[in-house]
Amino acid sequence: MSVKQNLEQIKNSLPPHVTLVAVSKTKPDELIMEAYNVGQKDFGENYVQELIDKQQRLPKDINWHFIGHLQSNKAKYIAPFVYLIHGIDSLKLLKEVNKEALKNNRIINCLLQLHIASEETKFGLNAQEANEIMETYLNQLLPNIKIIGLMGMASNTANENQIRKEFKELKSFVNKFPQLSVLSFGMSSDYKIAIEEGSNMIRIGSTIFGERNYIK
Ligand SMILES: *Cc1c(COP(=O)(O)O)cnc(C)c1O
Repeated sequence: MSVKQNLEQIKNSLPPHVTLVAVSKTKPDELIMEAYNVGQKDFGENYVQELIDKQQRLPKDINWHFIGHLQSNKAKYIAPFVYLIHGIDSLKLLKEVNKEALKNNRIINCLLQLHIASEETKFGLNAQEANEIMETYLNQLLPNIKIIGLMGMASNTANENQIRKEFKELKSFVNKFPQLSVLSFGMSSDYKIAIEEGSNMIRIGSTIFGERNYIK
């Protein structure tokens, strides 16, 4: 199946309140353009250099989502254009994004990444750390960023109950902070469960573009 067919199949199955981010990491410009040409505007990338290169070459009305782990010292490279940063996992990073957004005279939307998976390897905050960041954000002057929601990744498991439980945990955090309206969870393997559990932004790579040949 082509990118266009894969994309249309997913889109036709989505409720209207769910935003689809097409995860194009490691994929060439031609495939991104295939998706763009059938109306896809939101794309997700994980690596700063790859994102900068693609942003320079590809149409300027693409909404670029940074979904990888962002090191503070690299925020400056994406601050001029990034549409949404999904992986905020420290106050230090948040302050750095604020500083770089100010330099670019922008307000950058951000999501806090919560650690919900059982694997240790995945980045993210626990509920207490996220709480602390929210309190600081609400009390301090960080005028050039806006925390609009949460991002999370469930465990890489076939156990649907466990995935559901992890998504519920993420969703429950919103009870304390209802202003967190964007909920970015669900990937190729678990997006249907994610939508059932309240996701309104899914990040899909391989189901649209095919398996990735290499992991950077
Ligand atoms: C790669 C990646 C995705 C997409 O994964 P697929 O399984 O290919 O859909 C989604 N979110 C993040 C954070 C990723 O790194």
